[in-house]
Amino acid sequence: MLTLRKSVQMNITKTDLPRVVIIGGGFAGISLAQKLLKLPVQTVLLDRHNYHTFQPLLYQVSTSGLEPDSIAYPLRKITRTNSGGYFRMADVNGIDPEINTIHSDIGDLTYDYLVIATGSKTNFFGNKSIEDNSIWMKTIPQALNIRSLILENLEQAVVTDNPEKRKSLLNFVLAGAGPTGVELSGAIAELRNNVVPKDYPDIDPDEMQIHLLEGLDRVLPPMSEQASKKAKEFLEELGVRVHLNTMVESYDGYVVKTNTDLELKSETFIWSAGVTGAPVKGLNASALVEKTNRYQVNVFNQVNDYENIFAIGDIALMQSREYPKGHPMVAQPAIQQGNHLAKNISRILKGKKMEPFDYYDKGTMATVGRNRAVVDLGKFKFGGFFAWYIWMFIHLWFLIGFRNRLVTFFNWVYNYVNYDKASRLIIRPFKGYKKVMETTQKQV
Ligand SMILES: Cc1cc2nc3c(=O)[nH]c(=O)nc-3n(C[C@H](O)[C@H](O)[C@H](O)COP(=O)(O)OP(=O)(O)OC[C@H]3O[C@@H](n4cnc5c(N)ncnc54)[C@H](O)[C@@H]3O)c2cc1C
Repeated sequence: MLTLRKSVQMNITKTDLPRVVIIGGGFAGISLAQKLLKLPVQTVLLDRHNYHTFQPLLYQVSTSGLEPDSIAYPLRKITRTNSGGYFRMADVNGIDPEINTIHSDIGDLTYDYLVIATGSKTNFFGNKSIEDNSIWMKTIPQALNIRSLILENLEQAVVTDNPEKRKSLLNFVLAGAGPTGVELSGAIAELRNNVVPKDYPDIDPDEMQIHLLEGLDRVLPPMSEQASKKAKEFLEELGVRVHLNTMVESYDGYVVKTNTDLELKSETFIWSAGVTGAPVKGLNASALVEKTNRYQVNVFNQVNDYENIFAIGDIALMQSREYPKGHPMVAQPAIQQGNHLAKNISRILKGKKMEPFDYYDKGTMATVGRNRAVVDLGKFKFGGFFAWYIWMFIHLWFLIGFRNRLVTFFNWVYNYVNYDKASRLIIRPFKGYKKVMETTQKQV
């Protein structure tokens, strides 16, 4: 009886096949799972959501350009193709490497090999006032919070007779001019330029201000100087006010204070200034690099001190001469590490030695509203319409699922032709709904 209970956990029967448990159905986790399903292993994919999120297009959900289900993909659709594969919706809260077991809100599960692919979370750098009062975008519910907040503030601005309140409702402030801040502020500017004049005749679009604050001396710091310069030009053409060398010091829900004499009254303050790893408790201290919250891994993605525990994607810190700070926390290293680890697990099963991971940098890009994007592709750096065209093609290509590609493509064509953003709906209000905030804004 006891044996039976032990061998069936999370309603998954332990077979003779080695069990590989993957925590996280992001880019890294699903790339690995898709490959493992073809190998003689029992693959168990765990995630706290029952869907994969295509994070690069979250900003389009926030700004009413796309419906959330265009950028989400059911994780069960990945595991169902093979009887050796399982998905369980579980929030993993601990690892006990001594007994090869993970702990979660739906129970424990033993593993032969564990792969941690939990990605990253928003980094507030310890600033409590920002964490308590700002809004940010890492998940679909959070993107929907931003969408609701923007639209609710516009609705409220129309009816308020207090000029100071109106100004604060129409001031949109973003901190951090990395790809997320740049893309989001560009899309809010498009909303202001194309939708507000038609939908809100009581609001003069010039009243609606968009401020992008960046602590460094250029936007898009991870990209080339050329891309930064071009992106700043594009943002300013769209009417975004870019403030460089400006660090946010606090936000109390009403006023954004900075390290310069710039102070902005705003009821929408979006924090897009950085991420940090999202580790799970339980491994030795030497496994985690505290400064970045990422697991230290070797060239095989094996976590420091452990033979059968691997980390891939944003959560993995693989340092090399070329990447002394680890790989950039973007989709490509995650996808490539997932694919590569599947090959290495196959090699382990055949009694062969693992092969080291070698990252192939396919370039970086960011879009700034319609017709404008910047691309760094090795020696080739360019911006404008052609870059935007490439940006669209690549994002469509990497979206998971044929339906998602089709719906997104249709929406983009519709938005492009009509200068419209069709999903400007307050389905689930954000303001005043403390409960919603507690459940969807908390760091998960
Ligand atoms: C707004 C935004 C825009 C971006 N734009 C781009 C871009 O344009 N190009 C680009 O290349 N990259 C972009 N990125 C970065 C890119 O999305 C990440 O690098 C990539 O998602 C990392 O993949 P991952 O699999 O490591 O983690 P993720 O994709 O974050 O997946 C982690 C998964 O683990 C799950 N999880 C975490 N902890 C637990 C737990 N304890 N229990 C259960 N499940 C858990 C999460 O629910 C999630 O599904 C962007 C990121 C954001 C937030």
